[in-house]
Amino acid sequence: MPLPLGFTGAWLDRADQLRVDPDGFAAAAADPRARCLTLDGIDFVPGEGGGLRWEALDPADDRALLLLGLDDLGVPHFVREAPAGVRIDARSRTVMRLLPLLSGPEAALYGGARSLVDWHARHRFCAVCGSQTAVFRGGWGRRCGSCQAEHFPRVDPVVIMLAECEGRVLVGRQGGFPPGFFSALAGFVEPGESLEEAVARELFEEAGIRVTDVTYVASQPWPFPSSLMIGCRAVASDPALTLDTTEIEAAMWVDRAEVRAALAGDMGAPFLAPPPLAIARYLLEDWAG
Ligand SMILES: [Zn+2]
Repeated sequence: MPLPLGFTGAWLDRADQLRVDPDGFAAAAADPRARCLTLDGIDFVPGEGGGLRWEALDPADDRALLLLGLDDLGVPHFVREAPAGVRIDARSRTVMRLLPLLSGPEAALYGGARSLVDWHARHRFCAVCGSQTAVFRGGWGRRCGSCQAEHFPRVDPVVIMLAECEGRVLVGRQGGFPPGFFSALAGFVEPGESLEEAVARELFEEAGIRVTDVTYVASQPWPFPSSLMIGCRAVASDPALTLDTTEIEAAMWVDRAEVRAALAGDMGAPFLAPPPLAIARYLLEDWAG
């Protein structure tokens, strides 16, 4: 069985109805059981047991409350908008080091909260007229105080794919990767194209291969800052590679035995596999069987 997908499995009911119910939202915020996720900037702070840290709502804190949802007992869970001027580090080293301390569902809950807080911090001003915006919809949008334009948290679709040819799949590495590390190729979906077209375009642009038979495998959020990784497979008829070296430093075709060795962390494996929270690892596990 492949590993569970990273950043999925958050346990809260998102309680969408409270976002448009000011009285219900106020009651949730006044609930003495309500909890607020503790963040340092947009990074989580480990709790005593190693998981997420939660605290009671501080009435003296005037930052906007963003509703994450309700647990099985109806306890409201919030996170606060980041302080003005917070440093947004798209992929904090601290948090990457701490993430293994979280269970899968906790990583999922934190990932969603992080993307949301990050989005608010980047959208304090209206993209239409430049005036200040304010939180509305229980934390799931911002409205401009001048032109009344409404803005909603964004999710950026990214295709990540294994091209297969003659019993092998293509893995590649970017210049910034740790030594020996290879992963599935990936790229942002652009306006005006389907997922299938994005997969074909990215593989041709980055590796010079033409593919057909694009199929969907699985998806997961990647909260650095707000990607939705859409895992796919595709079939290439010709393995000849022409790399775009501005994007890809190296790429190679690997067979199932080589993928299994990499996933097992064998010393003799031809590459280092992606970490467990990355969907690239899931794609390799799924393909290698
Ligand atoms: Zn405006």
